[in-house]
Amino acid sequence: MKTIMWFRQDLRLNDNPALIEAANSGRVMPIYILDDINSLSHKMGAASRVWLHYSLIELNKTLNGNLTFFKGAADKLIPEIIEETQTEKIVWNRCYEPWRIDRDTRIKKQLKETKIGVKSFNGSLLWEPQQIQKSDGTHYRVFTPFYRKGCLGAAPPRAPEALPSNIQFAEKLNLAKDCTLEELELLPKQAWYHSMIKDWKIGEVGARDSLNEFLTKGISSYKSGRNIPSQKSVSRLSPRLHFGELSPNQIWYSAQQMLEPGDTNLDCFLSELGWREFSHHLHFHYPSLANENLNAKFNAFSWKTTIESLKAWQKGMTGYPIVDAGMRELYQTGYMHNRLRMVVGSFLVKNLLQHWHHGRDWFHNCLVDADLCVNSASWQWIAGCGADAAPYFRIFNPVTQGEKFDSEGHYTKKWVPELTNMPKKYLFCPWQAPSEILEESGVQLGKTYPMPIVDLKVSRELALQAFSDLPKTA
Ligand SMILES: Cc1cc2nc3c(=O)[nH]c(=O)nc-3n(C[C@H](O)[C@H](O)[C@H](O)COP(=O)(O)OP(=O)(O)OC[C@H]3O[C@@H](n4cnc5c(N)ncnc54)[C@H](O)[C@@H]3O)c2cc1C
Repeated sequence: MKTIMWFRQDLRLNDNPALIEAANSGRVMPIYILDDINSLSHKMGAASRVWLHYSLIELNKTLNGNLTFFKGAADKLIPEIIEETQTEKIVWNRCYEPWRIDRDTRIKKQLKETKIGVKSFNGSLLWEPQQIQKSDGTHYRVFTPFYRKGCLGAAPPRAPEALPSNIQFAEKLNLAKDCTLEELELLPKQAWYHSMIKDWKIGEVGARDSLNEFLTKGISSYKSGRNIPSQKSVSRLSPRLHFGELSPNQIWYSAQQMLEPGDTNLDCFLSELGWREFSHHLHFHYPSLANENLNAKFNAFSWKTTIESLKAWQKGMTGYPIVDAGMRELYQTGYMHNRLRMVVGSFLVKNLLQHWHHGRDWFHNCLVDADLCVNSASWQWIAGCGADAAPYFRIFNPVTQGEKFDSEGHYTKKWVPELTNMPKKYLFCPWQAPSEILEESGVQLGKTYPMPIVDLKVSRELALQAFSDLPKTA
């Protein structure tokens, strides 16, 4: 039998349940469809497209060049491909963004009516959203019980499965609507992305190397080190998980082989994977989470959109060095450390009073790990309007955050080199430095580095006021 293996957010051969099914069924025809039609306003951002381009190259190499590419609405293309290739069966691993669930449900229904075999699998989550419920049958809204009781109390995640030993590929045909990888036009016309990809080895092999490096060098100091952006204590596996170059199961079980059960670094790391599951769980139960405040009382919040301050934030020119460092890391590498995501997020929605949608959109376009479920849930968390969100009155102070989490200034100076010679005492508040210190450091505020675009104390009070003006209930 010839089976179509539809690769989506599972760009790997190992621990790929749908691929195992396809290989066990007979000859495999691997395809990838870039569907910018059904995704509507949730089209992939620019940085993710670059990642995808290179990840597809690597996937195609491991498939001995047998991957066939398509561009368009998958619900239209799939029946056409099936008919043209005389295929009897199609398999895929499930995706969980609401627009993909809608589309895939339609495809499945349509194919079943025409007696085509369709099978889908869980290849991206440790526990699927419908699996985890409270004892009364409702879903969780608070992380700790979701993870500790719901997930850890459920059956353990599936153990990773071996690569099919001898995949037989179906003969590659020239089809009416197939295209080349280049014709997917994932890379931008202007080649700004070279600096972004130079530090990543994209693809399944690179993903395995990153995991091994984290397991040997990072995980044993994860709990304390994960908050220090200059340290290599975090895994940087988020784009691997988003594109499925690794499954969460591979990470979950290999971490447990490295450290003893009960080790606090292990616990902490596994619970971060739990936060990823929680974001998917929330998005599944609240399909409008990417746009609508989970806490509806925030619908009355008086956001202020000032284009200049939004642009200053995007470019890393706010005059707050730790914020600017984070935003520049994002723009240049497609990644930002989690501590910084929280600091720059709080600065945008609380000190600048900009709607969290602006932050969501900028991150969506710039992050190589941009993930509709995790990004939206995280922005709602930061803004205080999400499930189990950070309380609105918790406003990160970018000066003390810098002093606490980048005490030597290594991270900040790396991304804001114009402050390289600034002494530690003033690194996070250069506007407080006496003129002779500024002169000795070669800093001219307003010329070589911006003055702060907003006053911290005043903006904090305005934010608290805007919050207290909200109705007490939705
Ligand atoms: C405003 C904001 C936006 C974010 N947008 C995204 C996004 O689009 N895509 C994304 O993958 N992560 C997002 N995150 C979550 C988190 O910042 C990243 O997952 C993490 O920084 C990735 O780095 P890492 O792989 O080294 O993480 P590690 O610390 O090594 O954690 C391991 C894995 O756990 C998961 N994880 C870690 N922290 C979180 C978290 N807070 N929420 C959910 N999952 C988590 C990720 O899959 C990560 O790869 C966002 C966080 C904030 C505050």
